[in-house]
Amino acid sequence: MKYIASCSFGKDSLAMLLKLIEEKESLDEIIFYDTGMEFQAIYNIRDKILPILKENNIKYTELKPKEKFEYKMFEKPVNHRNGTKGKGYSWCGGRCRWGTTEKNKTISKYLENNYGNNYIEYVGIASDETSRINYNNIHKSYPLVKWDMKEKDCLYYCYQKGFNWLENGVDLYSILDRVSCWCCANKNLKELKNYYIYLTNYWNKLKEYQKKTNRPFKNNKYTIFDLEKRFKNEIEKE
Ligand code: SF4
Repeated sequence: MKYIASCSFGKDSLAMLLKLIEEKESLDEIIFYDTGMEFQAIYNIRDKILPILKENNIKYTELKPKEKFEYKMFEKPVNHRNGTKGKGYSWCGGRCRWGTTEKNKTISKYLENNYGNNYIEYVGIASDETSRINYNNIHKSYPLVKWDMKEKDCLYYCYQKGFNWLENGVDLYSILDRVSCWCCANKNLKELKNYYIYLTNYWNKLKEYQKKTNRPFKNNKYTIFDLEKRFKNEIEKE
C-alpha cells in the first residue's frame, strides 16, 4: 500500500504534511497540482518544503493542467449551451469551477494510473470542515480530523513550524479567508477589498483579465472596475 498526500501548500494541507512527517506516519509521496495561478507565497513554501521531503525520502510530484489556465480562460474555442461559439470559459469559480474539475480529475487519474487500487490519499480537511468529507471513498484518509485539528490550529501549527505566506510584507492569511488561485472568482468582497489595498500587483492583473472577458467577476454583476470604484469610495469615506 502506498500513502500519498495531496498538498496545495495552503495552511491545512501544509499542517497535515508537516505533522505526518513529525508523527512519522507512512508517507511515500506528495502531490502538488500547480494551476499556474498560485500566489508567489505558495511557490515559496513549496521551495522551502522540497529539501524537507528529500531529507525524509518522500517523493515529490508536481501535476499541471493540460492546457495553460489563461488559455482556457480566454482563448480556447468553446461551444456555449445556447449554441453560440466563444473563446475561453472566462473566470473560474462559483458554479463554473472548470479549474477544480480538471484538478480533481488529473489527481485521480494520476493515482489510478500509478497505484491502481493500492493507495491511500491523505486529504487536508480540517476537523471543523467535515461537511467537505467524502466518506464513501475508501482511498481517502483525513488525518486532521483524526488529530482534531481545526482550521485555526492548522494555521498556528504552520506558523510555529516557521511557515508563513508573505506577499508584499503581508501574510495572506491575515487578509484572506482562503489562499487559493489568486484569480479565483470565489473571493468575497472583504477579500477583494484587501487585494485592492494590500495586493496591488494581483489587483492590477485582475484588471488586465477583466479587459479580456465580458463576464463580470463578482456575482455575475460586478466587474473588477466596478469593484475598484466601490472600494475607492468606501476608503474615501472611512
Ligand atoms: S481555486 Fe478558484 S480559480 Fe482555482 S481552480 Fe479552484 S475554483 Fe478555480
